Amino acid sequence: MSSSYRNAGARAPSFRPSTVKSKVPQVRRSAPGSLGYGGAESGRVRVAVRLRPRNNEEMAADADFADCVELQPELKRLKLRKNNWDSDTYEFDEVLTEFASQKRVYEVVAKPVVESVLDGYNGTVMAYGQTGTGKTYTLGRLGDEDTSARGIMVRSMEDILSNVSFETDSVSVSYLQLYMENIQDLLNPANDNISIVEDQRTGDVSLPGATVLEIRNQQSFLELLRLGEAHRIAANTRLNTESSRSHGILMVHVKRSILCQDDDYSLENGERSNLGRNLAPPIIRKSKLIVVDLAGSERIHKSGSEGHMLEEAKSINLSLSALGKCINALAENSSHVPAMKVENMLKIKEEFDYKSLSKRLEMEIDRLIAENERQQKLYQNEVERIRLEAQKRVAEAERNYVEVLEEEKMKCQMDYMESIKKLEEKWAANHQKRGAINGEVHSIASGSEEVSEMKALLQKEIRLRKAAEEEIQNLNTQFLKISKLADGNSDGFSLQEILEEESYQKKKLEDEVRILRNQLAELSAEANQTRRYPERGGGDGNGKVPLGMDFSTPHSRDNGNGEERATLSGLHERGVGLQKILSLLEAEDANVRIHAVKVVANLAAEEANQEKIVEAGGLSSLLMLLRRYEDETIRRIAAGAIANLAMNESNQQLIMAQGGVPLLALTAADAEDPQTMRMVAGAIANLCGNDKLQTRLRAEGGIKALLGMVKCRHPDVLSQVARGIANFAKCESRAVTTEGGSKGRSLLVEDGALPWIVQNANNEASIIRRHVELALCHLAQHEANAKDLIGGGALWELVRISRDCSREDIRALARQTQTSSSTFLAEMRRLKIEVCK
Ligand code: ADP
Ligand code: MG
Repeated sequence: MSSSYRNAGARAPSFRPSTVKSKVPQVRRSAPGSLGYGGAESGRVRVAVRLRPRNNEEMAADADFADCVELQPELKRLKLRKNNWDSDTYEFDEVLTEFASQKRVYEVVAKPVVESVLDGYNGTVMAYGQTGTGKTYTLGRLGDEDTSARGIMVRSMEDILSNVSFETDSVSVSYLQLYMENIQDLLNPANDNISIVEDQRTGDVSLPGATVLEIRNQQSFLELLRLGEAHRIAANTRLNTESSRSHGILMVHVKRSILCQDDDYSLENGERSNLGRNLAPPIIRKSKLIVVDLAGSERIHKSGSEGHMLEEAKSINLSLSALGKCINALAENSSHVPAMKVENMLKIKEEFDYKSLSKRLEMEIDRLIAENERQQKLYQNEVERIRLEAQKRVAEAERNYVEVLEEEKMKCQMDYMESIKKLEEKWAANHQKRGAINGEVHSIASGSEEVSEMKALLQKEIRLRKAAEEEIQNLNTQFLKISKLADGNSDGFSLQEILEEESYQKKKLEDEVRILRNQLAELSAEANQTRRYPERGGGDGNGKVPLGMDFSTPHSRDNGNGEERATLSGLHERGVGLQKILSLLEAEDANVRIHAVKVVANLAAEEANQEKIVEAGGLSSLLMLLRRYEDETIRRIAAGAIANLAMNESNQQLIMAQGGVPLLALTAADAEDPQTMRMVAGAIANLCGNDKLQTRLRAEGGIKALLGMVKCRHPDVLSQVARGIANFAKCESRAVTTEGGSKGRSLLVEDGALPWIVQNANNEASIIRRHVELALCHLAQHEANAKDLIGGGALWELVRISRDCSREDIRALARQTQTSSSTFLAEMRRLKIEVCK
């Protein structure tokens, strides 16, 4: 029940509809000409018949088509049984059984038409038959739920779209229905009286009022079909009719631009053949594919009685017969009479057994084709899914791989750095050892010289001592002489007077000391009981008193530092003048001195007192204590006080001017208590932060003193040393950048600080590490230091800092110094270390 024809331009087609259940005289006519497929009769209407499978109802009723219809696909014939002994046989171009797949139906019925439409011919596919025989199924199925069920419309458009090029061609579609001589636009149902216009000259028929939509992809075409179908149902409901009473018409307009061959052109236009390729006009081919879902053929003579079924099926409705007549008339005008004649060939089927086999095989093939198509679609979907999944996995794996690679690379670089570092260290050690051996040889040679020098010195000393002893002897004898003379002589009297005055003064001072000690004891007791005074002089939190000096005597430490300090400051507050306290720093009694220095140190811890202490000569007294007294407690406390005073810039200058640095250095050298060193290191560290004092501080041994103290390894001491070095390096780098110009390498490097810096750049104690890291970064800012830093192994640390340091600012500084130094960059290239950006 599908039929198809094609025509070229206005050339008339011949046509004869066919149907499964109607016995229509089967006449084939060949169209004149030799267009398209099928050789001489290619222009004629081709007719195929399709039998649909039984539906559920028919199955339930156990209806058997075989009672009335028999298909002979191998002979392309269909037999309609009149009764048990009589039947009519019809011949078709194609006979498609109930097992025929949609794909096969498309390929044998519609594909040749679509191909000729693509070649520029008009072509039509019509489905004709009773309602319910499968016209719409054959033409209009979208195949949403089962791709293998896609009908002729969908498959035609697929073929068309895959063959045109949107750069030069276009495809557009109208979708209409014809009902009661009225053409309605299914894409715009309001448009329901479309007129048919025929070009008198060319015979071309067109529908100027119909909506024409351009199609660029299959999806939009499917949407359009859905829309049209929805409108068809809505329109028919409104008209109180059924779709089976209207004809559905899909028109596909194909416009293709054809590249014209010069030769072809010049053959037809001989005289213009010389004008050349450029002047050949473009050829546009316009063609139409029309797919018609005809109205059911049974309506007019519809009858419910089974006995009339076959008779009824022979009839067609009015418009269909008009169509048939029209086509017949056109065909009659043609020079050729169709060759397609009915032949009765009874019982052929029974004669050949292989035929039933072939029939079964064909059924099987069709089933397999449909199944294959379904599977193919599933397979494609699956392949696509797997492809996407694989793509995702590959991307993921790539990402992971890159990450792991990056990590691994980093690790390798660090290992590599570590091993190069060790090798370089080993090399340096070997080098040094060799140097030392050379040195030893040298010192053995000069040893004897030194011994004789020492001897000479010793003899000189002995001579001097003898002279001094003789002098004392002399003075003694003179004194004895004077004593004898003194009896009764005025000189002796005045001497006596002086002695008496002296002893009076001494007694007076001793009384004063006693009073002060009593006061002190009283105050201590008072403080113990009432704890009247709050703690003073502790760190103020802004780093200005970084040392947290502990000035209590060893035996009172358990009582807590605060009380003692309160007591001591109290001494000052209670009216004992600063001057007085300072004078007590020189008291003969060691205990008094200790107490006094503690008071001064505690006062010095407070910024407000610092100026007063210095004005009153406190700084000189404290320095004097460092110079004069052996007692380490006094020196420790004095150094702490000096460290506190050294927080202030003008005091820093005074300390330097009064020879503080050599004294501090000496104190550090003699110290046994790490806390003493901590105070000294703290004092020097403060001085290190003064730009103006750098050269002098270094000249007087400040840096050497700092470095000397690292021997003690106490973390408190090390952190002060590190702070000092960082302060110093920072001032240096500031001087280089602000004053401009190179000043040669760092004094820290000159004084041999580098090895300690490198060793401690990754110290476990974060406070030490942070200072040392900063020092290193400051040193690295000055290109003059670059060679020493590389030689000393500092570059490794810089690289480490630039990658690992937890402080963002230090890390950034390390990166910046690394990249801004050409020496570093060259060395990193040499060692194949990647520069961290
Ligand atoms: P028509 O358009 O001729 O009135 P339909 O296409 O609507 O007939 O078909 C009637 C019924 O038969 C529908 O339910 C349809 O799904 C079913 N049908 C038609 N042809 C086939 C086929 N080849 N295979 C399976 N079902 C079919
Ligand atoms: Mg239908």
